[in-house]
Amino acid sequence: MGAMEYISTRGGAPVLDFEEVLLTGLAEDGGLYVPAYWPKLSARDLREMRGLPYPDLAARVMRPFIGDSIEEADFVALVRRAYADFDHDAVAPLKQISENSWLMELFHGPTIAFKDYALQLVGLLFDHVLTKRGERLTIVGATSGDTGSAAIEACRDRAAVDIFIMHPHRRTSEVQRRQMTSVLSPNVHNLAIEGTFDDCQDIVKSMFGDAPFRDSMRLGAVNSINWARVMAQIVYYVHAAVSLGAPDRPVSFAVPTGNFGNVFAGYAAKQMGLPIDQLIIGSNSNDILTRFFETGRMEIGGVTPTLSPSMDIQVSSNFERYLFDLYGRDGDATAAAMTDFRRDGALDVEAERWSLACGTFDARRLDDAATLGAIAAVHQSTGELIDPHTAVGVIAGMEARRDPATPLVSLACAHPAKFPDAVEQATGVRPPLPAHLADLFEREERLHVLGAGLQVVQQYVREHARSAA
Ligand SMILES: *Cc1c(COP(=O)(O)O)cnc(C)c1O
Repeated sequence: MGAMEYISTRGGAPVLDFEEVLLTGLAEDGGLYVPAYWPKLSARDLREMRGLPYPDLAARVMRPFIGDSIEEADFVALVRRAYADFDHDAVAPLKQISENSWLMELFHGPTIAFKDYALQLVGLLFDHVLTKRGERLTIVGATSGDTGSAAIEACRDRAAVDIFIMHPHRRTSEVQRRQMTSVLSPNVHNLAIEGTFDDCQDIVKSMFGDAPFRDSMRLGAVNSINWARVMAQIVYYVHAAVSLGAPDRPVSFAVPTGNFGNVFAGYAAKQMGLPIDQLIIGSNSNDILTRFFETGRMEIGGVTPTLSPSMDIQVSSNFERYLFDLYGRDGDATAAAMTDFRRDGALDVEAERWSLACGTFDARRLDDAATLGAIAAVHQSTGELIDPHTAVGVIAGMEARRDPATPLVSLACAHPAKFPDAVEQATGVRPPLPAHLADLFEREERLHVLGAGLQVVQQYVREHARSAA
């Protein structure tokens, strides 16, 4: 099969294979790694996937991205293990909510949000590859809530990994915080940063930009700058589409997003040949993406706390991967655009490229009042409780949908019990946590509060990581 090669969106970093890209975060030139080309799924490939169990379909979809890096049988076994403990046999079940529209439930993993779908596999891939190489890794990551707990669950107690997760102090929900801070494994370090999610993310980026630090600590990433996460998220788009009739009829998706990670995986599925009609983005009041699709200008605003905190983001890191394609895969042009964006806090895309982007994505925004209204409306019409992030996507989908004959799948990105206050406020019903999390509020917590400074955090990581050279 040969190895899939990975290239940086800024064109100035070494070409890597899958194993290396898994263990690397940001590319040396500040870019993000992407596959050198989009492998294709033929109509026949898609037909043959109909009815396959999720892990078997997953192994097929991801295979071309792995290349020779991991033996076929090992890879299939890892994928099966990754989803074995999910609490629904279908892994990512579809639930119909109205005529020709569905929720795809992505909350059946250990931390009851969609991040588990990628990170459970990524944790196992780390273990497999590091053990083979006799190496260790220091994971650093920033979370606005859900990534952190999913990453911690994926890496806890793994012998070859230390994990440091930063979250914005007092800006995550109590459930989100406790899911992270109640994991007391010695290789898990929760850092509560006095700042916003973007401050946390900037610290992570700066740590990767500091070559001596990055190399001596052997830094690895679990936020969605890690290609393997995007890869694993492509799977559920394919799984949903083939079960609703692809390749013989197109399907549309509505995706609540802040970081552009989840919806970028949908874009990747489309590039691979999945017949996706619309990719509809739902933003909360932190609407940098929606404003981009309305104006062709990407401009950083302030971060406003909302009921959907995992989307309280103003810099959508994964957008650079899309920009690279939009600029015809020209690394120099992408690098220049990102430099402008860093310098000016704004980026203008030429009219021609902007209209190309608008042909691929639609975008809508919802404020908190509309989000609560959406949770109530879905509850009233279907009896289903949905979380605030899911609600943003559902309404964006309903507003932006062009053809009611095309099935619309809205990604249900978190279990409603992860955001019980908003759900109760909207519906009067307080959703209970699933059984495996029922005692969460009684568990002991451990975290360290630190200022939003690079040096302070680097010092902490140096002192507490076991992986330092
Ligand atoms: C992470 C997260 C999002 C946003 O995902 P992106 O990576 O920004 O696309 C939305 N909803 C929930 C529940 C999340 O955990």
